[in-house]
Amino acid sequence: MKILVLNCGSSSLKYQLINMENEGLMAKGVAERIGIDGSFLKHESENNGKVKIEEEMKDHKDAIRIVLDALVDKEHGAIASMEEISAVGHRVVHGGEKFSGSVVINQDVINALEECSELAPLHNPPNLMGIYACQEILPGLPMVGVFDTAFHQTMPEDSYIYALPYEYYENHKIRRYGFHGTSHKYVAMKAAALLGKSVEDLKLVTCHLGNGASVAAVDGGKSVDTSMGFTPLEGLAMGTRCGDIDPAITTFLMEKEGMDYKELNNVMNKKSGVLGVSGVSSDFRDIEEAAEKGNNRAKLALDLYHKRVKKYIGAYAAEMGGLDAVVFTAGLGENSPESRAAICDGLEFLGIKVDESKNNVRGKETIFTTEDSTTQGILIPTNEELMIARETLSLV
Ligand code: ADP
Repeated sequence: MKILVLNCGSSSLKYQLINMENEGLMAKGVAERIGIDGSFLKHESENNGKVKIEEEMKDHKDAIRIVLDALVDKEHGAIASMEEISAVGHRVVHGGEKFSGSVVINQDVINALEECSELAPLHNPPNLMGIYACQEILPGLPMVGVFDTAFHQTMPEDSYIYALPYEYYENHKIRRYGFHGTSHKYVAMKAAALLGKSVEDLKLVTCHLGNGASVAAVDGGKSVDTSMGFTPLEGLAMGTRCGDIDPAITTFLMEKEGMDYKELNNVMNKKSGVLGVSGVSSDFRDIEEAAEKGNNRAKLALDLYHKRVKKYIGAYAAEMGGLDAVVFTAGLGENSPESRAAICDGLEFLGIKVDESKNNVRGKETIFTTEDSTTQGILIPTNEELMIARETLSLV
């Protein structure tokens, strides 16, 4: 069975075609600048190499058509005909409180997703566009929605309720939801397998450190807390997002700088984080390089980033009453031994001792702590697309 995994953003569409017989990647790619001048598709087939296709895509329907053409192309394709695709798995950012697991998409689900859109106005509408486009182009093909929020629906009330008047939760569903759930779930399961234990018997802190970043407390295979909240803005400092700040700063800044809430929202989401502090870049590679050359603000950005992750690890160990392993994943977590070491530095009291030579690795499943560590540090490359394909397979 071959499953097409789609991740639709506002002007982009990422896809993977996965053969579920061996979980092998057959093709992948990204369509960019959808609805903007100069749209193109970068397509890569495992057996037939890479190609860049420049073609107008005025909407997601055009993009999906071009992706399907590329998949069946004689020269660069991966399959002989579209009939080989058995199902489509869609990444959907926000499932609200309605979805605590993946679902087969039908009209009721679409209606519920439309309702969730006001909770994720930047993400859910493009996800829905992808679903509508598939309905038209691939009528009758089963589709599954896999939600970033679903894994965190197991959080207890005292993790997800904000200390605001309770009626805001009742009237507007203001609560913590958490994101990156597909990744947290995937790496938790993989880490358990690497440790040769059942995930039900483990207390894990999973750190998804990409451009967006979040930490989750996974107790017995269930998310019991996570650092992102009502939106992906809460929690860690990120590439461009501020994460936790004193909420009173917002009204203070609006007054001092004469900003309206839209400008402020833009500052907190796009101009803050390690970009805002360093003034260098949102990309950790640039910041690490600048810090090495003596740029103090770049060093400060890294230091405060690492400290924030460390604080969450400590908090979640306390919350779970123990810790068996800390799992690192996503761009920075997988590729920066320096960041993993800096975050774990000082966590020896929790039983974590980094083995420098084992930690000197990128993008490969590894336990990077010493033999005598009682709590393990683990690197697991995430694979959200494979997780979406597995969920899709299990439902269709
Ligand atoms: P997203 O999917 O959220 O865009 P990724 O998981 O791809 O993010 O992570 C992107 C981040 O990972 C970037 O900030 C980048 O700097 C960081 N990253 C990637 N490779 C490295 C590396 N070799 N060293 C340090 N940071 C890296």
